[in-house]
Amino acid sequence: MTGRHALVREAVVQCANLGRHYGSGVSRVDALVDANLEISVGELVVVRGPSGSGKTTLLNLLGGLDTPSTGQVYIGEREITAAAEAELVEVRRHEIGYIFQNFALLPVLSAAENIDLPLRIAGVPPRERDERVRELLALVGLADHPNQRPDELSGGQQQRLGIARALANRPRLLIADEPTGQLDSVNAEAMMSLIASLVHDQGVAAIVSTHDPRMAAHADRVIEIRDGRLSPASPSSGRRGRPAAS
Ligand code: ADP
Ligand code: MG
Repeated sequence: MTGRHALVREAVVQCANLGRHYGSGVSRVDALVDANLEISVGELVVVRGPSGSGKTTLLNLLGGLDTPSTGQVYIGEREITAAAEAELVEVRRHEIGYIFQNFALLPVLSAAENIDLPLRIAGVPPRERDERVRELLALVGLADHPNQRPDELSGGQQQRLGIARALANRPRLLIADEPTGQLDSVNAEAMMSLIASLVHDQGVAAIVSTHDPRMAAHADRVIEIRDGRLSPASPSSGRRGRPAAS
């Protein structure tokens, strides 16, 4: 692809002319149309749009969970849209962390065990796993709750556990599809703030979708999506657009 090596910053994820439609003929739905986007190391991008605008479609394509109708997705130098299934599994396991709106925690496992699971699957040795689990629990403010099961944690704590799990294998890209959708406004605000600080401290790239305009305040860059089409948000959105005194 031309131009990729001319980038000054390191693009973690990039898509070109990405499109996805469902159905055909009169029932065809263009869920995503000609999307072009790149996200750099340590950059938090928020995708904002109403329900049905194509946010989940975009995130699933970027995360290798769905196959596009047109275009390409690159994670680093690798085109995942051309990757074999086995390679894709490796990319999903090691390079991408997913945070889900409904938390998607395993109810029978403790907080520590939920974080440990992806490390186990990746074949990390036990001692290293224990250390990483402790580190992650502390990182998201759950150091005092290692043995509690998800249903013994608050909604905000469950979502923080979801973040810790997503970060377990040190992904380069964090994908969060409406991570604040199940939270009240105080917890939602705390969640976006935590995601932003983790992205900046750990140097991962992140893309977070939301239908809540207020969540954009923590973003480095805000993108609007309407009827499957991306456009940059107005300059007043996101951290870069805020007055220095605020
Ligand atoms: P959002 O996450 O912003 O709510 P989605 O990406 O889920 O939006 O959906 C975008 C559009 O694609 C919507 O019109 C939706 O109805 C349609 N869509 C999503 N998934 C499917 C599917 N599996 N089959 C048919 N249409 C779908
Ligand atoms: Mg969605």
